Amino acid sequence: MSIVNRQSSIKSQSSIKSSRVLVVGLGRSGLAAARLLHFLKAEVTVTDTRDKNVLSQALKNLPGDIRVEAGVHSPALLEDTDMVVVSPGVSLNQPFFDLAGERGIEVVGEMELAFRVLRPYGIPWVAITGTNGKSTTTTMIDLMLTRGGFRVITGGNLGSAITEEVLSCLKDDTAGDVEYVVVEVSSFQLESIREFAPSVASILNITPDHLDRYRDMDGYIEAKAGIFRNQTRDDCLILNLDDPLVRELGSHAPSEVFYFSTQESRGGVTPPIPRGAYLREGWLCINADRKEDRIIRVQDVRIKGVHNIENALAASLNAVLCGVDMAAIRDVLSEFSGLEHRMEFVEEIEGVGFYNDSKGTNTGSVIKSLEGFQDGVILILGGRDKGNDFTPLREYMRGRVKGLVVIGEAREKILGQLDGVTAALEAEDMADAVTKAYSMAGAGDVVLLSPGCASFDMFEDFEHRGKVFKESVRSLMKRVLVVQNS
Ligand code: ADP
Repeated sequence: MSIVNRQSSIKSQSSIKSSRVLVVGLGRSGLAAARLLHFLKAEVTVTDTRDKNVLSQALKNLPGDIRVEAGVHSPALLEDTDMVVVSPGVSLNQPFFDLAGERGIEVVGEMELAFRVLRPYGIPWVAITGTNGKSTTTTMIDLMLTRGGFRVITGGNLGSAITEEVLSCLKDDTAGDVEYVVVEVSSFQLESIREFAPSVASILNITPDHLDRYRDMDGYIEAKAGIFRNQTRDDCLILNLDDPLVRELGSHAPSEVFYFSTQESRGGVTPPIPRGAYLREGWLCINADRKEDRIIRVQDVRIKGVHNIENALAASLNAVLCGVDMAAIRDVLSEFSGLEHRMEFVEEIEGVGFYNDSKGTNTGSVIKSLEGFQDGVILILGGRDKGNDFTPLREYMRGRVKGLVVIGEAREKILGQLDGVTAALEAEDMADAVTKAYSMAGAGDVVLLSPGCASFDMFEDFEHRGKVFKESVRSLMKRVLVVQNS
């Protein structure tokens, strides 16, 4: 399978030099974009609606000669701006961006910026989106390509911002050696791409999320479909056959479509899908080019859960299309045990297992995590609501969940929507939630933090929430030990 490199035809590093660029939003990716632009000798201004005192730590990470406007995005800034780079956390639905549009100023995101800067090197991009499973799948692809002997840079929503990775390879003068750029792309990042065209794109699944930002599900799907909009016939698109919303997108693709499916092929139909990755007789199989390869038995895949088999199939297909050999793919699938904060086992206290799934931030991911258990689950749910509908949880909770503990701003809504399904308690903070959940559990049960909400009402981010959960579990463990020994 060949992947075609493109040559530069648009603005790249040379046109960035001396241009006046405004970076809106000083989150991790905004800061990284500002540093990259500064390195490329653009005249950089940054703006963020947060107060200067709140931003002081972030500003320490910027070169001194970058102009800063804190507290507002004043329209006057657009008077001397050639291009705006917007952070994914900032909604484009604001008069400020309408004004930029009226003035003919291009507004792009950090992903687009990275794509343009690297474009002269002709490196193929591999991009992964979906409501859930992006980080896990992106990590597996990175590991498979690396194990297969390719030099890769990986970033996006995961770990470091991609502009940070680009900056470090430009500084080291190693961009010319990079063989693949692998990125996890959120729907927010896809809103601000213009010419971004990955050679291999994947959409893992689409279930409701972020409906506080999109007008409706169609708006969300449209953003996700942006990942293949600029692809051509030489590019590949990988879609989830088992997800009706994703499968349907195949008919709109300008590129070659491959599917993955966890439905066991039945009746000896060969192959179950024309080209792609699937299960047959308990094996993960790939048929990318009219030849079926068996990769590994399902039971030998180290990471557990049906959703992770989906991620494993998608990752393997990506790797095969990039030219990775089967042995390297097999090695990674038998070794990779998953990422922190995704169904991470924490401790067992008196026969009660504690699992940290802090990254479960929407209803769809909570369902997948619950499916991993038969019964005896005490579920900790809550945080900042993103326009979620929690009612689909009702059918998955019955019989499985024996107690619910709710935290954060969404408490009332959750209690209302899940009323009567199981015994429920409210908690003030994470330590309180862990203690209350433990009080509802007996030996053989599990306490699962899979909040189904954003974390920003109580924590810096999902990682911070997961860390506080783990600390709370460990401090509970100490208290239980003290009682036992006294
Ligand atoms: P993302 O980067 O898209 O948020 P992660 O790989 O970090 O995805 O996983 C986040 C959570 O989503 C996991 O804790 C798990 O509960 C759930 N999840 C992972 N993979 C899938 C999948 N393929 N389908 C549905 N849910 C998934």
